[in-house]
Amino acid sequence: MFATDRFGTAFSGIFAGMTHTAPAPRDAATTPTTVPITVIRGDGIGPEVMEATLRLMREAGAKLDIEECIAGAEVFRSGDETGVPDDTKASIERTGVALKGPLETPIGFGEKSANVTLRKMFETYGNIRPAREIPGLETPYAGRGVDLVIVRENLEDLYAGIEHMQTPGVCLSLKVITHHGSEKIARLAFEYARATGRKSVTCATKANIMKLGEGMFKRTFDEVAVDYPEIEARQILVDNCAHQLVIRPEQFDVIVTTNMNGDILSDLTSGLVGGLGFAPSANIGSETAMFEAVHGSAPDIAGKDLANPSALMLSSVMMLRHIGQPVVADAIEDAVLYTLEEGTFLTGDIAKEHDPVGTTAYTDAVISNLGKQPTVGERRVTRPLIMPAIDWRPKQVVAKTRAVVGMEVLLEEAEMTAAQVGKAVEACTEGSPLRLALISSRGTKVYPGEIDDVEMIETWRCRFVRADESVELTDDQIFRVLSCLGETFRWSNVQKLQVFDGKPGYTKVSGED
Ligand code: NAD
Repeated sequence: MFATDRFGTAFSGIFAGMTHTAPAPRDAATTPTTVPITVIRGDGIGPEVMEATLRLMREAGAKLDIEECIAGAEVFRSGDETGVPDDTKASIERTGVALKGPLETPIGFGEKSANVTLRKMFETYGNIRPAREIPGLETPYAGRGVDLVIVRENLEDLYAGIEHMQTPGVCLSLKVITHHGSEKIARLAFEYARATGRKSVTCATKANIMKLGEGMFKRTFDEVAVDYPEIEARQILVDNCAHQLVIRPEQFDVIVTTNMNGDILSDLTSGLVGGLGFAPSANIGSETAMFEAVHGSAPDIAGKDLANPSALMLSSVMMLRHIGQPVVADAIEDAVLYTLEEGTFLTGDIAKEHDPVGTTAYTDAVISNLGKQPTVGERRVTRPLIMPAIDWRPKQVVAKTRAVVGMEVLLEEAEMTAAQVGKAVEACTEGSPLRLALISSRGTKVYPGEIDDVEMIETWRCRFVRADESVELTDDQIFRVLSCLGETFRWSNVQKLQVFDGKPGYTKVSGED
């Protein structure tokens, strides 16, 4: 089930990334209507690269109604712990499109990054980062035709930020993967591939280790792939993906992956084509899209007219395509690429043969090159991106059968051996339908059995299962064992073990039969 986005067919989007040469014929976009957008200049070099980009868009004829807002360091310092004031939130809600500079979380102010807050606030579940060879830029990969896109799930995974110290020395960080989130990002990746004429989508996971979480992402991708028979669907383990990206990056087209994998891989792919200074990105949700350079606020060069504004300029290209102004987008992209290829006016981070110029002079050069076209590369034929329809009701995957078959408890104990902990824990199951199946330490079984080659720490994960497998456990039975354990040990974490449609909803521990 699909729907077009809030702009209807104007989601022509196509944050296709750096593409160029002969402009493709454009129809509706030749006389674009003025589109309201929110602009956040941001921190550090943000105001400089944003000013450069706004000038360029103005000169190129972008039709924008700009609402300027603030977020980041100055907001944190004013005492707002979110880093995103209500006015900014209201503006983005109104416009649905934001172009933002980098935001900083000043040390000692605020708990969470304003960037993460914005992503969560507007449910921008997809992060799209194209990496395409830039003409004139010397890299070890120049001439190999690298042209790929990372589509990263942007809201779930370890970045949900759910962490708990179990003891002063042991932390559990929760990796949250949902079927719904995995389906949305897989569909976005395939729709993006369709819209940009790409041939394959590769799903990169660590499903061999995290069989349930990363495994569900992988399996959901396979379910979704059936709806896109014309696109090759490939699976790869993320570590091999990193290796292959360095060895033979040109084999990849679109890569879709979970949040942390994508965070790391997309920095790697930016590195393949010239570094973060050239990497544009889009954070896409069903109602809102935010465009930004991948680099940070570069405090070391802030306010010195030294920053390279190319990444934000290329992000504005993605934005202009998104809001239905592809002719202006193409013109800006061509001018940036022409200037880089020509190589006379370049900022200090990339200048080689000529003396470097500042942000302002580089921007002047790009503006004077509007209308010129770089000699290399081919513009990708794009068509409107269709966003997966989002149903905002709570999502539930329903199993035909389910049962509670056990529990796991994390205990703290620094003095006893594994065997002593085992005996004490077993004493709590007398008369209970639960029996102690095993104790593990950092995922490896340490009890029962003579196990003396595992380094013990102060937490012990005790797995209890049903003594009689035909009986479903009640909460009361679980509470009784827990309460008994609490008389001897500190416990910090309890997890029910469940079986869904006959399949265990938990993994075996290393060393378990
Ligand atoms: P950074 O990207 O700001 O800087 C890394 C290095 O690259 C620095 O030497 C810097 O001078 C250089 N650099 C970055 N962008 C450049 C440009 N456009 N032109 C020329 N040189 C450039 O990374 P960092 O130092 O790790 O982070 C600084 C701050 O930015 C931190 O507070 C961080 O949280 C924040 N940050 C924000 C975002 C965002 O808003 N999306 C992203 C990354 C980092």
